[in-house]
Amino acid sequence: MTNWAESQRLLERARRSIPGGVTSNVRASERPFPLFFSHAAGATITDVDGNEYIDYVLGQGPMILGHSHPAVLDAVERAMRRGQLLAGQHTLEVEVAEALVRLIPCAELCRFGVSGSELVQAAMRLTRAVTGRTLILRFEGHYHGWFDNVLLNVATPVEQSGPREHPELRLGSAGQTSSVLGDYLLLPWNDLALVEQLFAERGGEIAAVMTEPMMCNTGAILPAPGFLKGLRGLCDQHGALLYMDEIISGFRLGLSGAQGRFGVTPDLATFAKAMAGGFATAALVGRRDYMERFTRDVNHSGTFNGNVISMAAAAAALAELERDDGAVYRHMEEIGAALIEGARAIARRLDLPLLVQGLPTAFHLSFTDLSAIRDYRDYALHCDKERYGRLKVALLRRGVRVLDRGIWYISAAHTHAHVERTLEVLEAALEEVREP
Ligand code: PMP
Repeated sequence: MTNWAESQRLLERARRSIPGGVTSNVRASERPFPLFFSHAAGATITDVDGNEYIDYVLGQGPMILGHSHPAVLDAVERAMRRGQLLAGQHTLEVEVAEALVRLIPCAELCRFGVSGSELVQAAMRLTRAVTGRTLILRFEGHYHGWFDNVLLNVATPVEQSGPREHPELRLGSAGQTSSVLGDYLLLPWNDLALVEQLFAERGGEIAAVMTEPMMCNTGAILPAPGFLKGLRGLCDQHGALLYMDEIISGFRLGLSGAQGRFGVTPDLATFAKAMAGGFATAALVGRRDYMERFTRDVNHSGTFNGNVISMAAAAAALAELERDDGAVYRHMEEIGAALIEGARAIARRLDLPLLVQGLPTAFHLSFTDLSAIRDYRDYALHCDKERYGRLKVALLRRGVRVLDRGIWYISAAHTHAHVERTLEVLEAALEEVREP
């Protein structure tokens, strides 16, 4: 039996000074309980009891270069010894902005902040300022941060969500004001006919369509063929903005984000996690004429925006990601594809209803009889989360760490040896959860 005694002890201690012992609610429900970690390097992470895991959590996505990447750490150390927070401009900030403008199709100008949640706010404000409209069309199961005006319908039970074609907006937390419900329209993702119908009825009121371009907060769901292009066309036709929230997909699906990979350019996009090697930074990028509103009548501020540490980390991380024409992406694609294929082969051999879907750098495992998960309700209604939870713990006990919600992230530090070991562990863990 794995020894998690020190984690258990620390959790009890933490609960005396921190609600639930965790500083992000997302971590509270982790199985078997929220563990404590002592260090992480490359593709592995070690807990306070000395158990080492191959890590597919990767800090919820940011550690795309692997943990404690030396080039990022050196750059941060060098930069921060020259000052940490200048409340003024510095060269690194411009270098990172130039890199984003060079790499991301929609990026003509950019602004930095600290967390993804914040920059989503800046993006929504800008879409409303540009259009003079209020309504933002969003999709069931997409997460755009935890703030008051945006935490809606991420994991709302389907029985409280109304009919699929006309889902009902629901607050995600006690303490939110119901006034924000009037600021959005809501649809299932990946159903262009429903979006067309809604635009036909209310197109003149819609400021923006806000979407994860690959749905990574529920499953790992690719956009249906023509869906993103269809959104682009409807936005153009009705004078609305297309805003892609690339906080997960950015620099994970490739150097040009999901927008580059899928060939649809939005008006605005937010980036965060994978752009800064594990340091806290986020960016809003977009069309010059829209972004220039920040020089006139749209406010975006923040004490820590563009701080030296974040910018040094981002500059170094982007240089690593760009090296040799994106060699790390070719490596990650190969590693991820081997894992996906291997996992599918094991499931077939054991005759288990394990669905593996997504892309090599972000894929999702679930127990379901469906041949594909296409939207939030597919996942909510047809996937056995309890069984996946047991699989997660069975993997953890054997030295493989994954997120409870089923998504697996790959880093540049994962090797074929990690794949081989992971597949051995997966087979043993699947044997353990053979019974539904
Ligand atoms: N948007 C998306 C698509 C995200 O996945 C997340 C975080 N998982 C956020 C916004 C919020 O970012 P942060 O946690 O940095 O505030």
